[in-house]
Amino acid sequence: MTNTLFDALMARHAGDDRPALILPGGATLDHDGLYRLSGRLANLLTASGVGPGDRVAVQVAKSPEALALYLATLRAGAVFLPLNPAYTAAELAYFIADAAPALLVCDPAIVAQRADFAPDALRLLTLDAAGQGSLTEAAIRHPETQAPVPRAGHQLAAILYTSGTTGRPKGAMLSHDNLLSNARVLADAWRFSCDDVLLHALPIFHTHGLFVACNLSLLSGGAMIWLPRFDADEVLRLLPQATVMMGVPTFYTRLLDRPGLDREATARMRLFISGSAPLLAETHRAFEARTGHVILERYGMTETNMTTSNPYDGPRRAGTVGRPLPGVSLRIVDAAGADVERGQIGMIRVRGANVFKGYWQMPDKTAEDLDAEGWFTTGDLGMQDAEGHVTIVGRSKDLVISGGLNIYPKEVEEAIDALQEVLESAVIGVPHPDLGEATVAVLVPAPGTAPDPQEILAALSDRLARFKLPRRVILADELPRNAMGKVQKAALRQRHEGLFAKG
Ligand code: ATP
Ligand code: MG
Repeated sequence: MTNTLFDALMARHAGDDRPALILPGGATLDHDGLYRLSGRLANLLTASGVGPGDRVAVQVAKSPEALALYLATLRAGAVFLPLNPAYTAAELAYFIADAAPALLVCDPAIVAQRADFAPDALRLLTLDAAGQGSLTEAAIRHPETQAPVPRAGHQLAAILYTSGTTGRPKGAMLSHDNLLSNARVLADAWRFSCDDVLLHALPIFHTHGLFVACNLSLLSGGAMIWLPRFDADEVLRLLPQATVMMGVPTFYTRLLDRPGLDREATARMRLFISGSAPLLAETHRAFEARTGHVILERYGMTETNMTTSNPYDGPRRAGTVGRPLPGVSLRIVDAAGADVERGQIGMIRVRGANVFKGYWQMPDKTAEDLDAEGWFTTGDLGMQDAEGHVTIVGRSKDLVISGGLNIYPKEVEEAIDALQEVLESAVIGVPHPDLGEATVAVLVPAPGTAPDPQEILAALSDRLARFKLPRRVILADELPRNAMGKVQKAALRQRHEGLFAKG
């Protein structure tokens, strides 16, 4: 038996001196170096008491070593559990109690924040704030060879917490097969090869930056330009060296703010990909006008990995996330679970080798969302056109039912965002004594403007049916967003829930 995922990702890397990681300053780590570092770290993990099947929680800054730790965990036959480095000790304590890892790798400053932090059973491997040096130093004392511990495809490779956009993050249990099957399908769909240089500016504690981006690049034997975080100027400076970029919609809107974004800067690029949140049709069009590149939008989530993608060849239509990937089945169903007609809105359900094994320590939630036949209820509303292209309409939790009529916030947001005086907006439903719920639009004015809410409503009345017009328009300096740049509507709803209260 092999170690399913590690062997597929890294088998060809030993002895390969081409770059796997290119750092912003120009330094590189070659595939062989990454392979050997993962061996040293796997030995370090084993020496720290980690055994096959154990969970290894990792809360470190993005660095080459952080990637090697992921590979080392797989190599040691353990389960990788990455956590956002921005979590405070109090937040971290929740995840540690929930996940009960055998080892936590983290910054000592985190531990210093709370005297009561480390539960007895928890082994800690602390690194200095920069992470890098000390980890390499710790690893250097260990041999670089370690035979990958055998793991079958159905065994867990990772537990990854969801983004926590709609509530407390849930730990999704992902098997070797879940991750490997998806990486293989994507490598083929997006034509990845060892000549690709992926501009990687995403965090690596999330499905997008870790599994979509890293697994794909490692599987193909290409290189990644390894940026610690997204910075529009840095991205523009490095784009001429890259062939592919993966980003969230805010990456693209911020790049569009820079005059340097043009055809010349993107001449070597073959593919720009967007996901994790809806890409506005306006961003899609503006990016094409400036660069000549049509952004490929795709849809997925922690629980299902990538599920749909716009085509590599052929039209990529703004507002659609493409067709289900090979091996992925997708249905759109009504409240009773029956398939709706093409063109009708319903709940998106997904089945396939990509679909996770359930939520960690949440049997009831797992039973609710994942049925016996393997269909996962995503919580997203969408529709499919006659050719099978999927459009995401929004999350079912964000749907507003006002006076008995359905209002899809995304449609109202698109209309608001198209107004000159608006930078961005979020539409939410809050309790209303007569209507049940009423919509509130929270909007951030474009720089240098001070829009009048009444004028905004007047402008919208040309574009939207009366019942879709927000009952209230509120100006704000910014929208609450999580680490992936997603608007936290639950926080907004809480903030404004008393707006229409009687008395
Ligand atoms: P939580 O489940 O904890 O509330 P989350 O759903 O944001 O958080 P993720 O798994 O990171 O956690 O995100 C998946 C979700 O992101 C999808 O269910 C969908 O709502 C949204 N999403 C992903 N890609 C797209 C896209 N291209 N267009 C619109 N929405 C998208
Ligand atoms: Mg979710």
